[in-house]
Amino acid sequence: MVVAAKRDHNVEMVGPMMPGTSWQKSGEGTIPVSAFTIDWDNETITCPQGKISKRWAHEVDKGGREVIRVQFARKDCTPCPVRPQCTRAGISRRRITLRVREQYEVLQQARTNQDSPEWKARYQARQGIEGTVAQAVDGFRARRSRYRGTAKTHLQHLLTAAAINLTRIDAWLMGMPLAPTRTSHFAALAA
Ligand code: SF4
Repeated sequence: MVVAAKRDHNVEMVGPMMPGTSWQKSGEGTIPVSAFTIDWDNETITCPQGKISKRWAHEVDKGGREVIRVQFARKDCTPCPVRPQCTRAGISRRRITLRVREQYEVLQQARTNQDSPEWKARYQARQGIEGTVAQAVDGFRARRSRYRGTAKTHLQHLLTAAAINLTRIDAWLMGMPLAPTRTSHFAALAA
């Protein structure tokens, strides 16, 4: 979605990316995909032990997404001294699944960016907007129209917006403090 928004509409989406979920990503001394060197032009990957992958195939995963499945040679991985940190595969060789290049590079760049103070400051603006949208959706059921036709739906939106404003004015006059910004499970996972 991030790639399509940029490519098709020149819109940059700002939001936390899911971290990698493989066991190699978070284990002690384990070898994540980021430790490998990808040669996109020659369609190979070089591992930290200097071995070059033997298979590079474009496939479609269960979710219908195009992916690249990479495999190292059994003769390289079987005697490798760091194999327990690299693979648990019963067939004793490392396999890696990559997104296609455009998506992979955008994802890696986004994961790097989201650790920076500049990115966090930008995301705060979106969190504020999401708070407003959430109030309309959760408190005023604005997700669905109660009526048929755009004219009536538009009128519903105007009345909902007026009701939100009145609610906020009332809260301000009554001195109600702002609710703290909620951290979504997704954002917490990415933090
Ligand atoms: S197990 Fe295979 S891919 Fe992993 S470091 Fe060893 S040789 Fe390289």
